[in-house]
Amino acid sequence: MKIKNNILLIILAWFLLAIISFFWNYTNGKKAQHELAFQTARNLFKHIETTRFWNTLHGGVYVPITAETQPNPYLKTEMKNIKINDKLMLTKVNPAFMTRQIAEIAMKRDGIKFHITSLKPIRPLNKPTLREAACLNDFEKGIAEVGYFIKNNAMPSFFYMAPLKTEEECLQCHAVQGYKTGDIRGGISIFTPYEVKISTLPLILGHVGIWFVGVVGIIFAGNKLNRAYATIRKQALFDSLTEIPNRRNFSDNIAVEFMRSKRDKNPISLIMCDIDNFKAYNDTYGHSKGDACLKKVAQGIKNSLKRPSDFCARYGGEEFIVLLPDTSLNGVKHVAEKIRSNIEKMKIPHKNSLPAKIVTLSLGVTTSDGVTLDSNASHEKLIRHADIAMYKAKEKGKNQVV
Ligand code: GH3
Ligand code: MG
Ligand code: MG
Repeated sequence: MKIKNNILLIILAWFLLAIISFFWNYTNGKKAQHELAFQTARNLFKHIETTRFWNTLHGGVYVPITAETQPNPYLKTEMKNIKINDKLMLTKVNPAFMTRQIAEIAMKRDGIKFHITSLKPIRPLNKPTLREAACLNDFEKGIAEVGYFIKNNAMPSFFYMAPLKTEEECLQCHAVQGYKTGDIRGGISIFTPYEVKISTLPLILGHVGIWFVGVVGIIFAGNKLNRAYATIRKQALFDSLTEIPNRRNFSDNIAVEFMRSKRDKNPISLIMCDIDNFKAYNDTYGHSKGDACLKKVAQGIKNSLKRPSDFCARYGGEEFIVLLPDTSLNGVKHVAEKIRSNIEKMKIPHKNSLPAKIVTLSLGVTTSDGVTLDSNASHEKLIRHADIAMYKAKEKGKNQVV
């Protein structure tokens, strides 16, 4: 029963472990996706920064004026436009304008949204959104970058933003705004389409599978343990030859029953049984026949007991003891006589046991009334008295109850 309860507890613990593992894996999966999205966005930002630096190194680059690329009205510089010939006019593109153009291409091609912004924008359209303004304020406080998922059912994305720091080359144009090297001029925000997709089904199936295999293992090991425990218990409490309780089992029982008899003031009785001339039986028929005889006698004694509380055990070699709780002297005499006559009726041949020539028992009975007990009364004393009575039966000619 205890082992069964323990198995259930282990299965429950295994279940909790599987749940913890599932959530641990799930959370780690989410963290890994966040890390990946963050790295991807950071790399995009670094690419833009590099491209902008390239433009800055050249002090801006000239591109043909087209319908899409019109001269930048916010760029105050000499030689903003250069006429090459009647067919080709060039205009200077500074890093901010270039970033805007790249942003338009990235949006069209990949759905990635870049936005160059500043708390002090030269171009009004570059003014920050609330989200961007919060980030820019964070950058002023020393935060290096910001990135998080945006749960939007229409377009789930990852938002990333990092500051644009003023470098030596930037001062060519931005010195007039009062910026110094290292100042934060603004930032670039990036929205990349990104849906957090954790394959929960394989994760669930994997965990259910592992849990199930574990449960099968636990039940299998538990059953083996249960059987081993039952065997050990049987070996500890039962006599291996006769399969009735052994002396240790009897000792545990009588201690409890004797206390109960004292407490409830009920009688308790004992019968000590000893096979007559058993040495001669072994000598005549051999040891293995002797073992078989012991088994038969044990079963004969056991079958003579009717009440569930009656208890018989193998006490020693060819000695058996019977404990009869709540049984008076008359009662025990009656049971002992029944045992004696039942064994006699079995007619187990024993040609060297005279005069009966069959296997017989000598029995000694003793009773404690549970009331008139002196201070030294003990179950050991009760056993001693039953033993003395049994020896008296031997002296009086065996095959009888004393
Ligand atoms: P008594 O009538 O006075 O009791 O004589 P007895 O021969 O029965 O008694 P004794 O004590 O001289 O001998 C008991 C014998 O029981 C001796 C021993 O070999 C035998 N015996 C004890 N245990 C076993 C057992 O497990 N198997 C077998 N085959 N014999 C056993
Ligand atoms: Mg003996
Ligand atoms: Mg004997």
